[in-house]
Amino acid sequence: MDCLFCKIVKGEIPTLKVYENSSVLAFLDVNPCSLGHTIIIPKKHYQKIEDIPEGKINELFSVITKLVKIIPEIVGTTDCNIGLNNGKFAGQEVPHVHFHIIPRFEGDKGSSIQGLVRMEVDKQKLPELAEKIKNEIENEPNGEGTPKIKSDKKETEVKKKEPTENKPQEIKEEQPTKSPEREWQEFNEELQNTPPDYSEARKEEY
Ligand SMILES: [Zn+2]
Repeated sequence: MDCLFCKIVKGEIPTLKVYENSSVLAFLDVNPCSLGHTIIIPKKHYQKIEDIPEGKINELFSVITKLVKIIPEIVGTTDCNIGLNNGKFAGQEVPHVHFHIIPRFEGDKGSSIQGLVRMEVDKQKLPELAEKIKNEIENEPNGEGTPKIKSDKKETEVKKKEPTENKPQEIKEEQPTKSPEREWQEFNEELQNTPPDYSEARKEEY
């Protein structure tokens, strides 16, 4: 298969490995977004996360969790983004599922995951959408339905007490009373006003 990451797994392309076990490989990104930017892949070729069989995904997440405890600290920070570009519309450029760990530094002027896109969404339609998704999950053939129905009922009750439309306003009103939270809010607003442009960086990557 003519897949860059499969070639890396086979050792046909050299890479800076940081971790490897029988099913997962982690290596430093060749065009890092920040110091310590790491790629984590299943050794077997799957294009998207939903292609990975249930039960196998844990192998991947246990490595991600392990690395998150180590990599940011080694590069001198505490935080990181963990990301997956799942499909080409989401920016996936190598068709072999891969997670990113991107260490984040105070004042690095980067964005959050939520800063990737900001579409106009009709919030009035969200309850209907939630119902649709719930119904679809309940109709899944793998027996996911029963426990989901129970937990979803609790969520619905909570939503009725606190209308979703009011939630963002409530949060904004509370934030100015505390200085660190206000800073955080201003920080986020600043980020939203300057959406990131990853296209240049990602083009060069592979
Ligand atoms: Zn592959």
